[in-house]
This record gives sequence, structure tokens and C-alpha cells, in this order.
Amino acid sequence: MKISSVIEHLETIASTAFQETYDNAGLLTGDAQWECTGIIIALDSTEEVVNEAVSKNCNLIIAHHPIIFKGLKKINGKNYVERTIIAAIKNDIAIYAIHTNLDNMIKGVNGKIAELLSLQNLTVLQPREQLLKKLVTFAPLEHAENLRKALFAAGAGKLGKYSECSFNIEGTGTFKAEEGADPFVGEIGQRHEEKEMKIEVIFPAFLQDKLVSAMIKAHPYEEAAYDIFSLGNYLTDVGSGVIGELAEPIDQILLLQKIKDIFGLQVIRHTSLSGANVNKVAVCGGAGSFLISAALASHADVYITADIKYHEFFDADSNLLLIDIGHYESEQFTIDLLHDILKQKYPNFAVLKTEIKTNPVHYFL
Ligand SMILES: [Zn+2]
Repeated sequence: MKISSVIEHLETIASTAFQETYDNAGLLTGDAQWECTGIIIALDSTEEVVNEAVSKNCNLIIAHHPIIFKGLKKINGKNYVERTIIAAIKNDIAIYAIHTNLDNMIKGVNGKIAELLSLQNLTVLQPREQLLKKLVTFAPLEHAENLRKALFAAGAGKLGKYSECSFNIEGTGTFKAEEGADPFVGEIGQRHEEKEMKIEVIFPAFLQDKLVSAMIKAHPYEEAAYDIFSLGNYLTDVGSGVIGELAEPIDQILLLQKIKDIFGLQVIRHTSLSGANVNKVAVCGGAGSFLISAALASHADVYITADIKYHEFFDADSNLLLIDIGHYESEQFTIDLLHDILKQKYPNFAVLKTEIKTNPVHYFL
């Protein structure tokens, strides 16, 4: 199996097109055409993880955080980023990062946290907009189904829990084939009228090239007529953070205890306890203070995230129980998530979880 196959599979689950603009997800070192000898999954691809990969004969590290995040101008080994890159290149280790693209999927980093907390009725806290487009094309009636099938196969027509969504209406198309044309129907130099089906489908914007070539391939006409529209709709399964409900409202202290147990925490930082029961829980693994206002606007009782600064705790304004469980701690189960995704696809392949705890933060208790 080539490394490219593993990457292709991961990108059907979290396309790099869904990463944030500042991010650097994707293949960072190595060659996708290499034969994959084994996979190690980690949150951080540190030098130690590269050494672990070498010792376990795995030439692919799948990490959540991209080790190359900013531009590198020199690679001399003077810091941990440069040393990791040098070690990876010297040992022919490919490093692939699946970062904010995995954060942004409802079944990604945050969906996993929500699953551990048994949250129900899960939705994205801050859905992304302008990620959807619409394709409209026109086909002779008897070719419409064939075209619809090709569009669906290329990824069009997915709407929440529904697939193969399209809108279809019959009408009449006209065209006159000019000299040199090879018309599917009609005569050269004469205007032809054809009963056609107008087919409309939505699709995630990043699939546009794939979809247009699939449509042109399946279309019987020499010149397929089509329109593409940008939509203002939200892609409801993609965006930052998630929000859901507990099975039943519970006491704040009980929730804190539950979080402590599930995530194996030594300490939790949080805003003052109001004594009210909590039910609606917003979650964002990693640095999530940018979603405090979205959590407030969605009337969450609790927002669980990490990397909250002193002044940001004030932003909760006693309307929200703001909980900081630590960056590594909040994202630790992403390793299990990726392991499950890969083991499901490649049950007989060496897919290992790192044995190194890469958390750089320690607590003196
Ligand atoms: Zn993170």
C-alpha cells in the first residue's frame, strides 16, 4: 500500500480544503508514492515520535499538529522543529498532519470529545459559510439519470443526513450546430429543439473541478451547458466546535468530576460555579477561546475547551461555565479517533498509537 492511499482515505473524511487559512495540514515530509511500512499516530510529531517510528519500522507518522507551521528559513537543528524535520528526512519518514480540517468536521476532534461526554443532538457550534456551490446542467431526457448518477458519484447532492439530492424540471433547449460541429442530435446549420431535463445539485466548493469533469464525461452533448452558483448557505456538518445536550441536566460539580475522570485530569481551570444544573454543553478541543462568544450566543450552559487566558475567563460573564482542561488533554482522544478510522479501513495493517506522551505542559501538585 502506498502512503498516497492512506492520505486519500483520510481526506475523504477530512479534506484539507476544510482547513483554516492559517493552517498547514497535509503531507509535510516524505513522498506520497513511498510504499507504507506502518503508521504511527500522535498528536505531535516530535523528534521522539520520529525515533519511535524508526524503531517500530513505520515510515508514516500521522499527527494532529503540523510540525511545520510557519515558514522555515534555515534547517540547522537549532530548535525542536528543525531537529524533527532533519530526523524525518534522514530516516525517510513521512509526516502527515490532519489538523483544523479534522477539527472542522462534526465527526472529528470535537465529535470524539462529545462522544466521550455522551452528548446528544450534536450540531456544529459555528458552521462555516460559503463552502457550498450549486451546479445546474441540462441533458436530453433519456440521459438525465445517467448524468445524475455521475454527479452523485462525484460527491454532489449531499445535504445533512441525505444524499442523492437534486432538483429536476423539464423544458426545451434549442441549439444550432455550426459548421465543424459534431452534434449529438440535430443537423448542421439548423436550429434544433430538444426536450431536456434541467438538473440542479449542490456540492462542497472544493469538489468543483472533479464534479465538472465528471459531468462533462457523462454528458452526451459535445458542448455541455452548465452554470455554477456560489451559495450563502452553511455547510452544517463543517465548522468550529460542537454543541449538544447531556442525557439529563446535572450538577456543575458532578460534570466537573465526570470531565476529570474521563480525561484523566489532575486539575481543571473554570469560572465560578453558579449552582445551577447544566444541560447544554459546547466543546472545542485545543485553543478555543475564539468560540466563547459563539458558546454564549448559543445559550450553552458550559463550554469546555483549552488555552483560555485570564481576561477571557471574564468574557463568560457568569452566563457560562467556562472550563479549561488543557490543550493536550482536550485533544488526546484524537489519537483513538484516527486509529479507529484507519483500523476500520486497514484492519490487517500496522496502525499504532504513539507510546510517547508529547504534552509539553506539566503540573507540580
Ligand atoms: Zn491542538
